[in-house]
Formats: sequence, structure tokens, C-alpha cells
Amino acid sequence: MNRTEFFEKLFIKSTWLFIAAGFLLNTISLLIYHTNTNGNGMTMVFVFYPAAALLNLVKSKCLLKYIIKSDLSHILTRVFEITIILVGIVLGNIGEWAYIFALFAIITIELSRGIKFGYMILSYWMITNMLIYFMHLYVNTHQTVKSFVDKGNFTTMVFYCLMGLILVIFCNILAKESKMKDEENKALLSQLEEKYQQLAAVEEEVQGRNRLLTETNKALEEANLRMEESNKRLTSSIAEFYTLQEIGRVIGSIFDTTELLRHVNDIILGVMGVSYSTILLYDDKKGRFKVNTTNIKNKKELVILNDNINCEALMDCLQNGNPILENFADSDTYSFIKNREVKALIAVPLTTKTRKFGVVLVEHKYFNAFDDGNLRLLAVIGQQVGIAMENAALYQQMQEMATVDGLTGVYNRLYFQDRLSKEFIRAQENDYKLSLAIFDIDHFKKFNDTYGHLFGDKVLKSIASLVKGSIRGTDIIARFGGEEFVILFSRTSIREAYDKVEILRKKIASISIKDNLVAASVTVSFGVSSYPETSLSENEMISHADDALYDAKSSGRNCVRIADTIDDKE
Ligand code: GH3
Ligand code: MG
Ligand code: MG
Repeated sequence: MNRTEFFEKLFIKSTWLFIAAGFLLNTISLLIYHTNTNGNGMTMVFVFYPAAALLNLVKSKCLLKYIIKSDLSHILTRVFEITIILVGIVLGNIGEWAYIFALFAIITIELSRGIKFGYMILSYWMITNMLIYFMHLYVNTHQTVKSFVDKGNFTTMVFYCLMGLILVIFCNILAKESKMKDEENKALLSQLEEKYQQLAAVEEEVQGRNRLLTETNKALEEANLRMEESNKRLTSSIAEFYTLQEIGRVIGSIFDTTELLRHVNDIILGVMGVSYSTILLYDDKKGRFKVNTTNIKNKKELVILNDNINCEALMDCLQNGNPILENFADSDTYSFIKNREVKALIAVPLTTKTRKFGVVLVEHKYFNAFDDGNLRLLAVIGQQVGIAMENAALYQQMQEMATVDGLTGVYNRLYFQDRLSKEFIRAQENDYKLSLAIFDIDHFKKFNDTYGHLFGDKVLKSIASLVKGSIRGTDIIARFGGEEFVILFSRTSIREAYDKVEILRKKIASISIKDNLVAASVTVSFGVSSYPETSLSENEMISHADDALYDAKSSGRNCVRIADTIDDKE
């Protein structure tokens, strides 16, 4: 509420008071003293006060909207009011307090709108007052005018005019002071407002910074999450890399399949931290799985596993190459976990494009223990190990091809030479005897000519397998060339060797080799040498045995001849 509004509202309230008081006094005097001799009392009660009340009501409604909006409308309202009061004074019996009321009107406008307007209204009041006074003096016939003068109203009027002037000046001083205070307050307020604005600006800045901080925090959190995620990925990638590197190393260094699978199983257990890891190999001929490697120690569990590994799920995994990832395994589908403490499992096939070797099965005691990363890693391991197993099989084949004679299945000459060297050193070091026998089929050329080369081949095979089956596991038989074979007897003296080959000779001579309708038999001649009895080097052993064989041939074949002992030579 501003200053003008405040004083004007106060003025309206005062007006109500004056109207009420005037109305009450006039009514009482009408009722008690019957002073209604000239009818003015009645006019006041029934016309003037209701009219004043109506005007005050209209004023109160229109005050804010129209009256105090502009200087002119305000002044005109005031002029109108003063005029009404004067009319009241002239017409009615309202007396001196009407002057006071008029003074209120003058003071109010001064206080609310300034001294200029106060003087303007005061002047209007004085001039109108005087005009009316002199007008009534001039007319002087009217009773009211007369009473007005008679009652000393002129002095009253002058007194109130002077009062008005003094009040206007006094109010002006008051107003100035209050204005100054107002200005001070205003200045303080504006300072306060400025401070508030500054505070609001600071607050806004703080809020902005807070927002920025929150956003930065959020971004930081997100970055952290991303970092954690990539760290996790990195860790699992490193683990994967390490595992595959280890597997690669094992694959590169171990050619024995059983040992290879044992190592792979250990790596899986170490890296994946699973409860159990088992490698099952598939037997093509039997169409069944067999546990090859496992870390399961409990015999009961092993029995359950062995009895149930040929289940549909694992067969499908092998045959169709479908890996299994089951985080909530049930024993209906996976019978091999029945009564075992297994809740989650992964199975991947151990296969290559051409061969199906088996299945790698890892198991955990907890539910939900595996994710896609585990499955991926194990699948790669499965592939690598499959390739390694294929390589191992090829390697073994190659080894065999390099050491074994293709026709007869006994060792070849190259391998024999190697073994002879090793055995010879061992015999020397451990001081034991070593004997060597060379045998050659008698008249084999003729045999071939008679029965054909193919039958000849069969004879070679039969004799080789007969000898192989007759000697000890520690002895070695090899094809020395053509239809010539050599036998190395470990820890055997020349005499013992002689006895052994004599038995062999008789055996060979006694058997009949059959081919369809044809049946034939052959004889062989033996030459035997021995370390240290007849020979002191490996080369000597061969050459001395060869000499003895020549001897046997010369002696009519189908017999055994031994090399001369060193003592005999001397
Ligand atoms: P001897 O009693 O003197 O040993 O007479 P021999 O006919 O066996 O004479 P020799 O040792 O010189 O002949 C070897 C023959 O063995 C020549 C060849 O036809 C035959 N032969 C060599 N290697 C093979 C083979 O791999 N298969 C067949 N069927 N015959 C072979
Ligand atoms: Mg020969
Ligand atoms: Mg021969």
C-alpha cells in the first residue's frame, strides 16, 4: 500500500465515523428535543447523511481504480467533497465539526499528494467559504444565513481557515520529515533490495555451480562405471589371454595326449576357479564317453559321473557342436549331477573340422556361477585342444612312419641303428652283455620266383610277426633290408642268444605260410655276435654278425652261426 492510498483509506474510514456520529446526533436531537422546527434536521437525517454515505461508498469503491490515479481526478473529488460539506454547512445544522471534517479532507490530500495540492484545496475552501459568506450577507434574507452570521459563524469560518493554513504548514513539516524518513527507508530498502539481488545472483551462481558439480559428479560416476566395466573386461581379457597362452605353451611342448589333457584340465581349474573340471573322450567304436581327466576325487561322485556321462545333453554337445551353459542345472537333464553338489555347468565340444574327440565339462557348486565370457573362453580352449589332439595323433602317425617298416610293422633300420647305439652305451656303462643276431631268408629269390612277390611279402610279414611275438619286450627286432632282419637281445650273452635264435630258427622252419590254396614254408640262416664276447663296438657287432650269417649260408643254410669270440681270435 502506498502513501496516497493509506491516507485516502484512512480518510474514508473517518468519513464513515463522521457520518455515523452526525446521523446519530441529529436523530437523537430530533427525537428528544424536537428541534425540527425548520425542517433542516429532517433533511440532514433523511437526505444529507444517506447521500454522504452513498458518496463515501462510491468513493471507497472507486478510490483505487479512478480517484487517486491522476492528480486531476483526485483534486476534483476533493473539490466535490468540500463543496458538499459547505452545502451541508449552509443548508443544515451540522455546525463546527463539519469544518473539522473539511480540514481532514484538506490535510489528507496534502499528506497523500503534497503541499501544492494542500494549498490548492485550502484556497478553494477559503475562497468558497468567503464567497458563500458574502453571498449570504448580500442576500441576508434567508434564515439559515442569518443564523450562520448570528451564531458567529464568520469568526468560526475565519478561525478554521487559519487553522487550516496552520495545519497545512504543520502537516507539511511532518510530511517532509516523514518523506525524508521515507526516502531514507527507500534508500535502505533499495540497498536491501540491491543486497537481495546480489544475494539472489550469488545464490543463482551457487546453484549453477552446484548443478555443474552434480553434472560433473554424474559424468564422473558414469566414467567410473565405464572404467570399472572396461577394467572388468580387461581383467577377463587378460585372464583369457593368459589361459590361451598357457594352453598354447602346453600344446606346443606336449605331444602325449594324456599328459596334454591333464595339463589343460589343470589350467582350466586354475584360471576359471571352478569346482570341477573333467575331460571326456569319445570312443568312436563303442559310441561312448570315457572320463579321461578329472579333478573329482570322491569315489562316489566319480561313479555317478562315469555311469551318467553318456547322456543326451553331452552327446548333443559333441555330435552337433552345441556348447552348454547352464546356471541352474537340474539332474533330470544332466543325470551326471544327480546327488552331486553341482549347481551350474558348462560343456564345450573338443572337436576339429574332421574329428570329434570329446567334451570339456566344468562344474560349479553355486548357482549362476558362469557367464558368456566363461563359455567363450572354454569354447576357444576346446577348439585349441581339439586341434592339438589332432596334431598329436598326426605326430604319432609320423613318428611311427619314421621308425616302423611299412610292410612288416617292425622297426626300420634307421631306428634300429639308433637303439643299438643307445643300448650299446648302456651295456658298456652298466657292464652287461648285449647280443645281436642277423637273419636272412634262404633262397628267397627262388621263393619269389615260384610263388610270386605278393606271397613273398606275406612270408616277410609272417616271419616278422612270429619273431616279434617270440622275443621279450626289452628285445628289438627290425627289418635290416630286403629279406634280412636283425634282433637285439638286451642283457644276453652269446650263448643265450644262440639258444634263443636256434629256437626261432626251428619255429620259422616249422610253420607253414598259407595264401589261398598255396601253402609254403621257408628256412632262415642266423649270424650272431655279442658284446663284449665277440665284438667291442656297435659296428663290429653288425659286421661280425653279418660274417657269421655268411658262414651259416656257406654251411648249407637253415642254421645258426656265431662270430668268433675275442679269445678265439687271439
Ligand atoms: P640266399 O639264400 O643266398 O639268401 O638266397 P636268396 O635268393 O635269398 O638271395 P638274395 O638274398 O640275394 O636275394 C634276396 C631276394 O629277396 C631278392 C628279392 O627278390 C627278395 N626280396 C627282397 N626284398 C623283398 C621284398 O620286400 N618282398 C619280396 N617278395 N621279396 C623281396
Ligand atoms: Mg639277402
Ligand atoms: Mg636270402
